[in-house]
Amino acid sequence: RTVYVNGDYLPEDAARVSIFDRGFLMADAVYEVVSVLDGRLLDFDGHMARLDRSLDALAIANPLSHDDYLAAHRELVDRNAITDGLVYLQVTRGNPGDRDFAYPPEDTPPTVVMFTQAKPGLADAPAARTGWKVVGVEDLRWGRRDIKTVQLLYPSMAKMEARARGADDAWLTEAGHVTEGTSNNAYIVRGGVIVTRELSRDILHGITRAAVLRFAREAQMTVEERPFTIAEAQQADEAFVTSASAFVMPVVEIDGKKVGDGTVGPVATRLREIYLEESRKAAI
Ligand code: PLP
Repeated sequence: RTVYVNGDYLPEDAARVSIFDRGFLMADAVYEVVSVLDGRLLDFDGHMARLDRSLDALAIANPLSHDDYLAAHRELVDRNAITDGLVYLQVTRGNPGDRDFAYPPEDTPPTVVMFTQAKPGLADAPAARTGWKVVGVEDLRWGRRDIKTVQLLYPSMAKMEARARGADDAWLTEAGHVTEGTSNNAYIVRGGVIVTRELSRDILHGITRAAVLRFAREAQMTVEERPFTIAEAQQADEAFVTSASAFVMPVVEIDGKKVGDGTVGPVATRLREIYLEESRKAAI
């Protein structure tokens, strides 16, 4: 693979970042994941807007313009011959030359790393036809989940707990309500109404979430943005999650209880179709 590090395109084995980089020592870094279908980038502008918000929230000056990022994304997709897959982008506060809790001087250059992951058939994942099983796991993450930082240890632990319990993913719960999945936003459907938690510091503001809710409203579906419990989700007609890499993924079982009849429902199916069709059309 060819990867990107601070302006250079290098074989992955030749790519180097300092051990003092605060991304490595302190998870002082943010990231984005953009999907690639047919060699084109999905929702690129949305991901760039969120990158700006994440960097602003941490007072890291964005070292590159959106055009620079676009050029680098395209270069990596090209050099790695990605038809379907992902581009991962990470910006860290960089390398102060030593370990210190205080931020380094403002003129310290951030570190920018990008790489691709090939995912042949990404849009035709068999799981979209059978749906995911999820389990509730207490949400023990920090209080600024709206910033897309690389502090992913707890979601990773929750994913392992889900696997150990025979599920595909965890739905994180706080004060009795679902916040989101380990790496996706969570939804239920009841009586044709789509319910998903409202935006706040408690969840990541999903780029796929924004697109899917817009398409749902355009298709005259009713959307309610409010918290819901695992018990309410188990009683729902349908459930699903959204993310840049899973698109719209149906959820058919929650804590061992089937959702509806335990098969993929019509609302999730339709939203997945609309999302894939519209975002392919708008891909750049
Ligand atoms: N929530 C969390 C915690 C995530 O990590 C992600 C994606 O990585 C999402 C939601 C979905 O966001 P997006 O649709 O922008 O991929």
